[in-house]
Amino acid sequence: MKKIGFIGLGIMGSRMAANLQKAGFPLVVYNRTKEKANNLLDNGAQWADNPKEVAQNAGIIITMLSTPEIVKEVALGNQGFLSSFRDNSLWINCSTVNPSFTKEMNIKAKQLGIRYLDAPVAGTKGPAENGELLFLIGDDTSSFKETEPLFNSMGKKTLSLGKVGAGASMKMLINQLLGQSMVAFAEAMVMGEAMGMQKDTLFNVLLNTPVVAPVISAIRPRIENSDYEANFPLKWIQKDLHLSSICAYEHNIATPNLNTTKEIFAQAQQQGYGNLDFTAVYEFLNLKK
Ligand code: NAP
Repeated sequence: MKKIGFIGLGIMGSRMAANLQKAGFPLVVYNRTKEKANNLLDNGAQWADNPKEVAQNAGIIITMLSTPEIVKEVALGNQGFLSSFRDNSLWINCSTVNPSFTKEMNIKAKQLGIRYLDAPVAGTKGPAENGELLFLIGDDTSSFKETEPLFNSMGKKTLSLGKVGAGASMKMLINQLLGQSMVAFAEAMVMGEAMGMQKDTLFNVLLNTPVVAPVISAIRPRIENSDYEANFPLKWIQKDLHLSSICAYEHNIATPNLNTTKEIFAQAQQQGYGNLDFTAVYEFLNLKK
């Protein structure tokens, strides 16, 4: 069996790689912080000292990195993997990046004879751990079928949405709605509490109306227990809203609500909430507390 390379073993990547390993795929892994690979290495994964070395040992590489800038550095920088990949190898980019960036990476890969899959994920730490992610695929090279067993071991559903860019486009919309829904709900909670209502009354009533996004039910315990250990770090939703905003600019679309939401997360980040879960925006808005 061809080795699968995995680069980026943070909250999401470490869990996705562990599920590949559980399903029997041999792995070669690299992460800036080596300790995060310890469990995978204990279970038989091979360590690579840099991204280049991953490409020298794998036929497929999955990246799960923080930002477009980091993806570019890891793929094309000094120790980048792309130029060391064998012809017709496959790069599956699961990191959340903007559509124009993913298309740029596809072109770079194509120029080097490498196939590229635009493959962002919906779902957070728990679904990543339980192999229940949703993959959003953009594919120019009909590589998706060959990779289905990989996706099936990391996720519960894989949607083939069109050409490269289609996956990232859908991901932009999902996270835009996630950020906006979170801020809208947090603001309503803060206002309800200011008017003297109890938190549990607010949750019990509001969550039973159709005006609240379903995702809020899942994050209720975080707000109730003030448990903001990062499942989805606040700094990354701010990044994603920024990427959506770039996308809107590129399409000459006005998105005032998106940009206001983005700036609320930016302010929360400036106030030190960046490494907490994105739901901590409720604490940030609850200044009267
Ligand atoms: P994370 O825990 O912060 O992991 C980020 C990864 O990027 C780590 O492997 C980190 O390495 C690496 N990285 C950061 N800066 C780097 C640099 N300068 N050089 C090399 N590597 C660097 O974040 P995450 O939550 O797993 O998110 C990863 C991606 O998935 C992001 O694009 C995020 O938007 C997306 N995503 C996240 C979620 C979620 O719920 N968490 C859900 C869907 C999609 P170190 O370990 O050395 O820091």
